[in-house]
Amino acid sequence: MKTEEIITKTAALYSRSLTDETMEFLRGIAQDYCKVKNYVYGRYSGIVYVNRLTPVYGILNEMRYCGLRQQLNMPTVYYELAISEAVGDIKGMWSMLKNKLRSLINENENLSEEDRLYLRTVLKINSVFAAVLNRQKYEMPEKTKDIELDIKRLNNLLCRLVRRHLKTPKQQKADCFLVSSNGYRADENGLYLASRTPRRRVFVPVKGIGEADRQLRIIVRGDDVRITFPVDVEARKRGDYTNTVYAYIGYSDMLTLSNGNVYGKELGSLVTPETERLSEKNNERGRIYAAYRKKAEQAASENTEMQDEWLEKLRENNFGRVKYDEQKRRMREKTQNFINAELNRMFREEKPERIVITKPVTKNRAKNYSKPLNRKMSRSFRGYIRDQIAFKCRLNTVELVEISSKGTGGICSSCGSEGKRVKADFVCEACGYHSTIAVNSARNIERIAKSGGKHDEDAD
Ligand SMILES: [Zn+2]
Repeated sequence: MKTEEIITKTAALYSRSLTDETMEFLRGIAQDYCKVKNYVYGRYSGIVYVNRLTPVYGILNEMRYCGLRQQLNMPTVYYELAISEAVGDIKGMWSMLKNKLRSLINENENLSEEDRLYLRTVLKINSVFAAVLNRQKYEMPEKTKDIELDIKRLNNLLCRLVRRHLKTPKQQKADCFLVSSNGYRADENGLYLASRTPRRRVFVPVKGIGEADRQLRIIVRGDDVRITFPVDVEARKRGDYTNTVYAYIGYSDMLTLSNGNVYGKELGSLVTPETERLSEKNNERGRIYAAYRKKAEQAASENTEMQDEWLEKLRENNFGRVKYDEQKRRMREKTQNFINAELNRMFREEKPERIVITKPVTKNRAKNYSKPLNRKMSRSFRGYIRDQIAFKCRLNTVELVEISSKGTGGICSSCGSEGKRVKADFVCEACGYHSTIAVNSARNIERIAKSGGKHDEDAD
């Protein structure tokens, strides 16, 4: 019997409004958590540690005795997770850096195929990579040991590239922390979190945590918290999902199908006015902030007592910034909820067995045919939309097919002639076909998918 795929979902819960005292505790932990992470980033992101990040126990042990935990008076349950999370981020940073190096090596015309093979091999074997960076002895990898190479030159190149592109991660926002199952207890009323006083718990009223055996992420907001945690769910196969859906992901409307149905109507206009207002406010704030800072610096250099006053104004201004971030996050959550609700509606109503969309357009190739701000905003949600489509497909055992976007834009879906795009409309003078650009594109996706992914024209 075939076992169903297990998919990890992120569930989110919101607490009720919390007391000032509880909020202060949570904010304090989030701040210390951020401090610990930044400390770990600063101390362990260097080349010395590149091969000492796994297993994490070594670093946990060093950090246990460095005095930072005592200094912060931070419960071990938060302290150690901050360390593990930061080490995970550093590992992620290295793997991204290695990807970057791989592409730089591939593009470098001064390297021979053998050179590249050697460098790629070094990037693959972390212990060798670490030895090269730290100028230590190492055994030549099996793959390249019989090839004659200018090892010194290649190793120098690698060191230089790492020096140039290595960036220490840094966490700016101190608004969330992780807690493992031994750091809390949960019942039907809520969460009881480990506090800074041994054997005392801080109560957070929130429904639905269930049995306490998973790691929670606590996101500290204005006067409540958002709690997220992974949940394993079985992918389900729905017997009545038998249709193939051809979908165009748009700038204004989220999804337009080849049958004409639209989901996420005017997503663009939903996010625009709010964003516009916020970005305007923030520009103004940025100007004021810069002016205050300049005055404070000037006062400091002249040793006048005005400095404190300007610094105080700076701090006040920063509260405004916190409020702005809060509003921005609310807006993002609202938009994401809208996207998810509309995608769920699409699955429910269209009952797809298969969804065909286009591959993401690579940078700088998107054509310009709607309002700039609309486009900017909806583009920033496009990655999210794509991720959610992919996720919901896995969850419902729906096949997701991505075809090239070539030939889906300018060609008439009815007769195949080159058509005209007038604002949001598509007009074909050859056959008289007239629809929206989105519908025409979705119909082209259908046409191309049905012809086996082939298209006649190179036009976009
Ligand atoms: Zn036509």
